[in-house]
Amino acid sequence: MMQHLKNLILNYAKEKGAALVGFAPVSRWSEQGEVPEEFHPTYIWPPARTVIVIGMAMPLPMVETTPSALHMELYNSSNRELDGLAYHLTNYLNGLGHASFYFPRDCYGSIKILLEKPLAAFSHVMAAKYAGLGTLGLSHNLLTPQFGPRVRLVSVFTAAELPSDGMLAKEQCIKCKACITCCPPAALNWDGKAPLADYDKIACAKWHEELTRRRCYPCGICTKVCPVGEDRKNVYQEKGIMKKYLEEEKALARDPNDPRYRSWTHVRNFGSWQK
Ligand code: SF4
Ligand code: SF4
Repeated sequence: MMQHLKNLILNYAKEKGAALVGFAPVSRWSEQGEVPEEFHPTYIWPPARTVIVIGMAMPLPMVETTPSALHMELYNSSNRELDGLAYHLTNYLNGLGHASFYFPRDCYGSIKILLEKPLAAFSHVMAAKYAGLGTLGLSHNLLTPQFGPRVRLVSVFTAAELPSDGMLAKEQCIKCKACITCCPPAALNWDGKAPLADYDKIACAKWHEELTRRRCYPCGICTKVCPVGEDRKNVYQEKGIMKKYLEEEKALARDPNDPRYRSWTHVRNFGSWQK
């Protein structure tokens, strides 16, 4: 019966545009011991037994234009779609008699609030890891085999004990350091040994404050340059792309009209302030 319900949820989410769906038992938060207790799903909503994590893809060629109004619109659209999907799935499950609750995808009021307290009440990234959708990269992003970090997430908590998915055994991050090299405010630093880079959340939030002023929020450079993902290998192949990413900042500082970047700079030059 619970497998049937899981299939219904999978079909429902896929029909509404989900690219990825995973199921995590709430016990995984205690078993893994990585997340403080007050951020566990059962702390936030005690009846929770399963967390359903839904991912929507961010098309790479649109992400590549960041920082741009186009990327901002993509981000806003994905957020709206994800929250709509989680809202409807929650009501659908409640209608079937399975008490449910969803945690919206970002859930913060402003960058000013993030500058004071740069944390959300719940981590979709950790939920997605526990639901078997990916592993954490040096950048702290979830890296999925299908889309690398170019995926947005939302979580639905349900009291139904649904069959869970196994966690991914293979680490996806290849420690190439592209995310670290290309981060505009140098918010990521790595000692060459730790599983994750040291992440300066305030530096990242301050850069986002600046991009909000310029009307081209969010940054997402670390999701753009990550080489992981079948999307890049199968759909959006471009020869020499990593070199292009790694040289972008200096090349555009030298020549803002560098023809290698003209499609991205054209998009950036309209609809937002670039300074
Ligand atoms: S979002 Fe931008 S500023 Fe923040 S860590 Fe990623 S690259 Fe750096
Ligand atoms: S850019 Fe490289 S180092 Fe950074 S998360 Fe992706 S694979 Fe890992």
